[in-house]
Amino acid sequence: MRRFELTLPRSIDEAVRVLRDRGSDAKLLAGGTDLLPQMKNGLLKPACVVDLSGVAQVRTLEPAARGLRVGAAVPARALERDTVVRSTYTSLAESAALVGSVQVRNLATLGGNVCNAAPSADMAPPLLALEAVAVIVGPRGERRVPFADFFTGVRRTVLGADEILIEIVVPPPGPRSGGQYLRHTPRRELDIAVVGVASQLTLSNGACTKARIALAAVAPVPLRAHEAEQALEGKPVTAEAIEQAAELAVGVARPISDQRGSADYRRHLVRVLTRRTLRTALTRAGG
Ligand SMILES: Cc1cc2nc3c(=O)[nH]c(=O)nc-3n(C[C@H](O)[C@H](O)[C@H](O)COP(=O)(O)OP(=O)(O)OC[C@H]3O[C@@H](n4cnc5c(N)ncnc54)[C@H](O)[C@@H]3O)c2cc1C
Repeated sequence: MRRFELTLPRSIDEAVRVLRDRGSDAKLLAGGTDLLPQMKNGLLKPACVVDLSGVAQVRTLEPAARGLRVGAAVPARALERDTVVRSTYTSLAESAALVGSVQVRNLATLGGNVCNAAPSADMAPPLLALEAVAVIVGPRGERRVPFADFFTGVRRTVLGADEILIEIVVPPPGPRSGGQYLRHTPRRELDIAVVGVASQLTLSNGACTKARIALAAVAPVPLRAHEAEQALEGKPVTAEAIEQAAELAVGVARPISDQRGSADYRRHLVRVLTRRTLRTALTRAGG
């Protein structure tokens, strides 16, 4: 590992000042479970590492009436165990519970997962399906970006080099809404998703009023399956409607073939996992 300077800011303002002064020389450190391996293998060579562990504001987890507020440096383990997250934002808790091992989850943060922006990031699809918003702070102040617009490419996001993701706000799904996140991995643990799917359904008077389906590891960025969502909305969620949505979800996938699975296999998994998550979402929504 190359030598680097370590900075321990105590506030967001202080951290932003360091980033502004050091520019692309600096890298933020949350849990370090992505950053440190990337520094060790030479992929990243920051001269200055800005450790967020002393910034209390990014460590708060607050379920409020207007939605869930998750500080960017809240670890996956806290999301997996929180009773409100488990009951109301279930797909997010489920995705958090799948990250690495317990040891990894005690360090790995929600903010780190989305800022690292791997196409396979497990916690990204639930944030897309739950229509979460990223709260970003930089030298020019605060801005809010829906997760639908957050990812711009493999390991790329809308964040500038001098900006920090401070919080993720997840609106309440409301009554009669249910969701699920599922992924497929060749190994049971300590593996990354070959495909991940999050679905969220909201029902009223026997019909689906809102459907959200998000996919991971099938394109350069995690993405929504808009056509599949529209096919479900405004009618009862029948077995046929689920089949049709699963087929439409396959249509938005642009998977690659690699050592972990062929593009065809990934398309097959999108169909299977979309079908399964929609069925569970329907049950959880009370349908
Ligand atoms: C053994 C192992 C198993 C893993 N398993 C999984 C898995 O199953 N699923 C999965 O999705 N991932 C997995 N990962 C990857 C990793 O654990 C997660 O992506 C994790 O959530 C990253 O969070 P972190 O806090 O460790 O991020 P860090 O490593 O601290 O940071 C990651 C990146 O985000 C930037 N960053 C961090 N916080 C902020 C912020 N607030 N604002 C702006 N930029 C920021 C950093 O500069 C860095 O570039 C695994 C990693 C390991 C080592």
